[in-house]
Amino acid sequence: MADNKTTHFGFRTVDQKDKVKMVAGVFHSVAGKYDLMNDLMSGGIHRLWKRFTIELSGVRSGNAVLDIAGGTGDLAAKFSRIVGPEGKVVLADINDSMLQVGREKLTNQGIVGNIEYVQANAECLPFPDNSFDCITIAFGLRNVTDKDAALRSMLRVLKPGGRLLVLEFSKPKSELLSKVYDRYSFDVLPRMGQLITNDAESYRYLAESIRMHPDQDTLKGMMEEAGFTEVRYHNMTGGIVAVHRGVKP
Ligand code: SAM
Repeated sequence: MADNKTTHFGFRTVDQKDKVKMVAGVFHSVAGKYDLMNDLMSGGIHRLWKRFTIELSGVRSGNAVLDIAGGTGDLAAKFSRIVGPEGKVVLADINDSMLQVGREKLTNQGIVGNIEYVQANAECLPFPDNSFDCITIAFGLRNVTDKDAALRSMLRVLKPGGRLLVLEFSKPKSELLSKVYDRYSFDVLPRMGQLITNDAESYRYLAESIRMHPDQDTLKGMMEEAGFTEVRYHNMTGGIVAVHRGVKP
């Protein structure tokens, strides 16, 4: 809940109003090397996590899809091909650097015509009620200050029967995996960040923000509290990542 005046930025407690600026600083800094770092950090596995999310989405030709916190547009690119010329994809992100990298990448891939780019905060989406058949938020929710407000906002703009998919880092299922993963996140990631982007701090934030994010069952409860039904989650890579799916009644 974010009804008090402080929140988390990684392991630090900060004023709510400061978190948005601090998160913006991270993504302005990493935008140019974001895709490269994603491939290096996950060994390319993030592509499989995203593919599974798309399979679960049930998106079809002609659908309207919102990819919020869409960044450099991996999901939006795939959705654009699935929904075709009769459909529509909105790639939305709060950060103009990430949006710009996404727009350039997708345009260079020839993805034009059924896609729009919108700078927006997930907490207060600038779309009419009942606009989308599906909304995805991939590795975005943990950066949002008021997650409950964001979930309610996503529910509002979904059509009845529409699906929300939240792809996010989560809690590993085994103690052993947890230990190895902690080592990797806190020792290797900041060094990799320093080497590739000259920015260890942003990758330390990544590791810390993952640990502070609600676990699988807590997020499921938050989605139900926001008004989603049929909420289920699927663990991937031993629970390092989970995808939650909920439906607007
Ligand atoms: N979805 C992309 C992917 O999976 O590769 C990008 C994920 S990136 C780790 C997180 C994104 O969330 C960033 O582009 C960041 O700007 C965006 N973001 C952070 N807070 C946000 C908010 N309140 N509303 C919308 N986007 C936000």
